[in-house]
Amino acid sequence: MTQLSDQVHLRPEQLDAFWMPFTANRQFKQAPRMLTRAEGMHFWTDDGRQILDGISGLWCCNAGHNRKPIVEAIQRQAATLDFAPPFQMAHPLAFELANRLVGIAPRPATPADPSLDHVFFCNSGSEAVDTALKIALAWQRVRGEGSRTRLIGRERGYHGVGFGGISVGGIVSNRKMFGTLLAGVDHLPHTHDLEHNAYSVGQPEWGAHLADELERIVTLHDASTIAAVIVEPVAGSTGVLIPPIGYLQRLRDITRKHGILLIFDEVICGFGRLGAAFGANRFGVVPDMITFAKGVTSGTVPMGGVLVSKQIHQDFMVGPPGAIELFHGYTYSAHPLACAAALATLDVYRDEALFERAASLEPVLARLAHGLKGRPHVIDVRNLGFVAAVELEPRAGQPGARAFDVFLRCFEQGVLVRTTGDTIAFSPALIASETDLERMITTVSDNLAKVD
Ligand code: PMP
Repeated sequence: MTQLSDQVHLRPEQLDAFWMPFTANRQFKQAPRMLTRAEGMHFWTDDGRQILDGISGLWCCNAGHNRKPIVEAIQRQAATLDFAPPFQMAHPLAFELANRLVGIAPRPATPADPSLDHVFFCNSGSEAVDTALKIALAWQRVRGEGSRTRLIGRERGYHGVGFGGISVGGIVSNRKMFGTLLAGVDHLPHTHDLEHNAYSVGQPEWGAHLADELERIVTLHDASTIAAVIVEPVAGSTGVLIPPIGYLQRLRDITRKHGILLIFDEVICGFGRLGAAFGANRFGVVPDMITFAKGVTSGTVPMGGVLVSKQIHQDFMVGPPGAIELFHGYTYSAHPLACAAALATLDVYRDEALFERAASLEPVLARLAHGLKGRPHVIDVRNLGFVAAVELEPRAGQPGARAFDVFLRCFEQGVLVRTTGDTIAFSPALIASETDLERMITTVSDNLAKVD
């Protein structure tokens, strides 16, 4: 029997049933962009065109596409142990993977720093965020501080689409359709400031003081009501917002002073994106929990998780040994296929020194990206590690439309980038060559002159 996936082009009526996420469905289905194959730095479309992937799929395929060792590990695992129930049962790869992840987590730099030596597994970034928020609330309770129920996020934060994630997140379009969300949430200001920081190379010098807004929030609500603060070290999905120098350290100092947990959402920042295993490693700031997903399996099999501090974990390990310590988990927590994919992915990262490679190519990407300064419509360029972005002046009355036009033109010319609002992001796989980086940026540069 012919399957839909065997056909080169789907007929319009075959496009109707799938309600696509975060997509203008009606517009897309008029002119679908269909990917049928991938390898290394490239996708291929249903009409046989090769597309340079400038965004690692969706900030996730950090080792490149269809890497043989990862594909083979998944195939072997599917043929060996397809599933193991994760509650009151387990399989060895889950433990092996947890140990490997703890091995690359940031180490405490001072005696006051947490030791991130436990992992809770789930299946996506959104689940990782909701898991971390739930652990934070439950931890405050188990240590007798049950009045600490408030969660603090940040404007322009993206923490996935669960109710916890959209509540602490700061993207109005993701929030406004869904009612009142979680109670007791407040938000820090974002750190994006064109007046002071436009065209900063790497971390902006201005803006560490914005972390002091947390003191204002503490004064307003009282520390005894606040459980945790969650931020992305570099905010990805809202336009690659780089933290000012000293900002994250200041958040760490203030949270510690007030007994508030600090959670880094590293769903994008993790696994080499910033030239280190995690953003926390690069910034030298150790939070109490790190959420991860995407790059852990290089995007091949859905997986997410939370790195949790020794202290938090230890405080749950009380009571009768036969009692379940945390009433939380997913059918697919530590799924065998995901664990096999993640272990093989971590091998590739290590064997090919891809985090170090990203760090060594940071100056090249920075030079190319900042070369966009002065091109039509450009109002800012930002970069850190192996991620960069160019922000365009919005077209009057049509926010996001200009960047989307550039995206469409680039795709026609065989380069995939990502737009969020009027920002165009570059986040290539860590195997990208200098020629790939050049092509990605030059294609955007050429098209900037062609859009009105
Ligand atoms: N947190 C951050 C920082 C993210 O960038 C994302 C996804 N882009 C998520 C959470 C949600 O991840 P997922 O789409 O896997 O649920």
